[in-house]
Amino acid sequence: MNEELTAHLEFFEELGIDGIRLEPEWRSRREPNEPIEPNEPHEPKVALRVIRDELGADCSRCKLHALGRRQVVFGVGNPEADLMFVGEAPGADEDIQGEPFVGRAGQLLTKIVEAIGLRREDVYIANVIKCRPPGNRNPEPDEVEQCEPFLFRQIDTVKPKVIVALGKFAAQCLLRTNDPITRIRGREFTYRDAILIPTYHPAYLLRTPSAKREVWEDMKKVRAILRGE
Ligand code: URA
Repeated sequence: MNEELTAHLEFFEELGIDGIRLEPEWRSRREPNEPIEPNEPHEPKVALRVIRDELGADCSRCKLHALGRRQVVFGVGNPEADLMFVGEAPGADEDIQGEPFVGRAGQLLTKIVEAIGLRREDVYIANVIKCRPPGNRNPEPDEVEQCEPFLFRQIDTVKPKVIVALGKFAAQCLLRTNDPITRIRGREFTYRDAILIPTYHPAYLLRTPSAKREVWEDMKKVRAILRGE
């Protein structure tokens, strides 16, 4: 068994998973026998490109453009994903690579996605704000105000069935609440035609591995909703 596979299986075990599903329909939002049209329009893909262009590679709507960010980190993944993850803001690795969740926390997020039988490229991943705050401080209200409309448009374009808000900041921001993450995590909220489930941020899991069990509980809920259970 190769090292990567062994590491994944160990992670599953750590999360308390006692088996995996191999059926192909697990990965797809299509019905198992639904034909794929060769010339299917790709509107969400195009719409996301339009939003990205409107945001602009040199966005200067908030002060972060002058506070050391290298690039705007828009979002990544399947434009028609059933499952979307929303984090807080790009960190140092994301600022360099231009993709959300590519650092250590991102690698853990990828494992979490794989733990429910999906691949990273099956889901859509974005942040509340698209530029790295200096020193990874929390985004400030004026920054959120300028940037979150672009997230809302991403959500309304992708139209996921489930949104997982990663961590306190994203959850409180999307739900417009001050409730602590410990109170709202794992609960289901109706949000922009989707079901939103807050869970702990993968960076928190790196510091507090014991919280992985609760995230696994939340992800099982996500999996059940996606499966229509
Ligand atoms: N943390 C986040 O909230 N988002 C990222 O993209 C990376 C780390």
